[in-house]
Amino acid sequence: MSKYPKLIAYFLDFVKVNSRSDPNSTTIPSSDRETKFLNTLKEMLEKMGLSNVHTNDQSAYVFATLPANTGQQVPAVGFISHIDTADFNSENINPQIVENYDGKSVIPLDKAGKYTLDPKVFPSLKKYQGDTLITTDGSTLLGADDKAGVSEILAALTYLMAHPEIKHGDIKIGFGPDEEIGTGADHFDVRDFGADYAYTVDGGPLGDLNYETFNAADAKVEIQGTDVHPAEAKGVMVNAIQLGVDFHQALPEFDRPERTEGRQGFFHIYDFEGSVDHTQLAYIIRDHDRDRFEARKRLFKGIADRMNAEFGSERIKVTLKDQYYNMGEIIEKDPTVVEIAEQAMKNIGVKPHVFPVRGGTDGSKISFMGLPTPNLFAGGENMHGRFEYVSEQTMEKAVDVIIEMVKLYAEK
Ligand SMILES: [Zn+2]
Repeated sequence: MSKYPKLIAYFLDFVKVNSRSDPNSTTIPSSDRETKFLNTLKEMLEKMGLSNVHTNDQSAYVFATLPANTGQQVPAVGFISHIDTADFNSENINPQIVENYDGKSVIPLDKAGKYTLDPKVFPSLKKYQGDTLITTDGSTLLGADDKAGVSEILAALTYLMAHPEIKHGDIKIGFGPDEEIGTGADHFDVRDFGADYAYTVDGGPLGDLNYETFNAADAKVEIQGTDVHPAEAKGVMVNAIQLGVDFHQALPEFDRPERTEGRQGFFHIYDFEGSVDHTQLAYIIRDHDRDRFEARKRLFKGIADRMNAEFGSERIKVTLKDQYYNMGEIIEKDPTVVEIAEQAMKNIGVKPHVFPVRGGTDGSKISFMGLPTPNLFAGGENMHGRFEYVSEQTMEKAVDVIIEMVKLYAEK
């Protein structure tokens, strides 16, 4: 019998709910499916007897509080998960359970055997010898990202409420939409949430802990050409497509996602569309280091400036928009939030695996709003597609870590 009898029941229920976000929508949340699921979670939190359960109007987050049961002044700690799923089929999710996995067999997903989880292709499977794995049926993603996080937080709450001998400060819960489309945390209301420290429970395998993310900008390049008949083009035609190619070639050849790893930043072109008359390029710019990030933006603009100077007119227009920053900058000022997470993992025998994320998390934005929010493992593997799976035992460890952290904060 599991220490957290409801953990997997919650999870299996939640993954069956289609709560995919919609990148083409401008509403908050981006889909009605999300609103519906958020309302379900709100009702659950109310039934469980949490306090101050409400929907924050500006963000659509559902917030709740498990009030302190100690007279001591201790920090309020928050746990946050997103309820939407990624850009992959999420209709009729049909989770499969593989008990006592042997760490080497090929797991068939669909009945026809077209899709399988093969340790040769996914060596991570070998770590899970003896575990119960939850997989897809090959036709959808699983949604462990991040319904594992939602379930773990709820299981931790259930446990703490059943064990009042565990003393704790205020525990704040936030379930929110639209992480997968990058907008969910934009409207996060730090004041309403009311935590001193927080965690997104949205990381990958056992022990993952992230408090560094990229600094991120979106960059658009618009190029105006002069289109004339090729026969009479000499000295007159300005081919916007050619200028686009020239612009791209002027960027450092090796600073591309497919040629970088670890802390190496990049320029990533993700769209190139145009005609002789008018061409547009779209990029993202990424770097963990803030100075190098700023230098990358200067370099990017500098190419356009140089090309424009050669023409003597503004043919090339660059628009840069910062998206989020490396939360490490904030955490460095008060590393408590990371120290406690590492200590909690060690206390329960989990080796912390700290590494900089090559992306952003909701916590990157929330940290810059004044609430330090690193990212904790939730357990999922192969996220965002049909090969996604999660181990029940890892999910239990995630609950253990949450409870252990709550205890450590109460000793603060
Ligand atoms: Zn996620």
